[in-house]
Amino acid sequence: MLETTIAGSLPRPDWLAEPEKLKGGWKLSGQALEDGKRRAAAEWLRHEEEAGIDILTDGEVFRIHFVHGFLEKIRGIDWQKKTLMGIRDNRYQLEVPTVTGPLSRPAPVHLEEVKFTRAQTKKKLKFTLPGPMTICDTIADAHYGSRPAMAMAFAEILNQEAKDLERAGVDVIQFDEPAFNVFTKDVKDWGIEALHRAIDGLRCTTATHICYGYGIQENIDWKKTLGSEWRQYEEIFPALNASRIDQISLECAGSKVPLSLLGLIPDKQLMIGAIQVTGDRVETPEEVAATLRAAMQYVDAERVLPCTNCGMAPIGYDVALAKLRALGAGAALVRKSL
Ligand code: ZN
Repeated sequence: MLETTIAGSLPRPDWLAEPEKLKGGWKLSGQALEDGKRRAAAEWLRHEEEAGIDILTDGEVFRIHFVHGFLEKIRGIDWQKKTLMGIRDNRYQLEVPTVTGPLSRPAPVHLEEVKFTRAQTKKKLKFTLPGPMTICDTIADAHYGSRPAMAMAFAEILNQEAKDLERAGVDVIQFDEPAFNVFTKDVKDWGIEALHRAIDGLRCTTATHICYGYGIQENIDWKKTLGSEWRQYEEIFPALNASRIDQISLECAGSKVPLSLLGLIPDKQLMIGAIQVTGDRVETPEEVAATLRAAMQYVDAERVLPCTNCGMAPIGYDVALAKLRALGAGAALVRKSL
């Protein structure tokens, strides 16, 4: 009970990439870079096991960005044609590549990474992919003419990828959808339908991660505008509860999400974010346990997966390691008292 996991990303070590940046550039190239990514992933898997994490990830250390890392190998995207776009409903601006033709996946994108990672551990393995709606909010469209149409095209490609990764032994495939918290009406109109297309035919556990973003300044500033209670989840939880996704990942640590909203999602396994991803302060195991217990007033223990609020890519390596250990130790405290 209380299987622990993480949202997905972990910091790349400073010998591999520029540290504490969301898109820090690689410091190696060629074969040295490929070897370095594998070494970094293997080290994180050891750290996760030692910290008592039950469902492991590769820390996303193979990719420079959680969306563009997948898109790099997709056809139909012009990387030279940069479009300045307002991201997450204009929370910040980003120069993004542009879809200029029909999307296709000439070959698996992450399969070799998964084969390597699978061979490193006997524990359960999760792989994270960007969700269709979030991809469409991170790339410009000059071909499909509407976001739902482009999202379904991406969902088809994600489905092909997910099936390959499932065959390689992944236990959980998670689609990251931070955009779900922003475009709450679109979630109901087409966002969940696109996710269903992405998971079609999968037998492994499926998950989606919905958060209030990485601990970057733009997100910290945005959170300040959301008032004393964050109720975005309230609008999408009933639809998510009715969806075919198995697990939902939520931000609970230090957030202003009223935990009573968890009552709106009674049929899903919930990854309860009990670790904040902003700042350098490391939670104590007791604090982690307190967050989990607060959530468990609304969710029975069988449905709780202790987790981080979001990815930890932009924070310091040692801080992330200490937070992993706090998560494992905090979950153990709760388990012991059950
Ligand atoms: Zn997140």
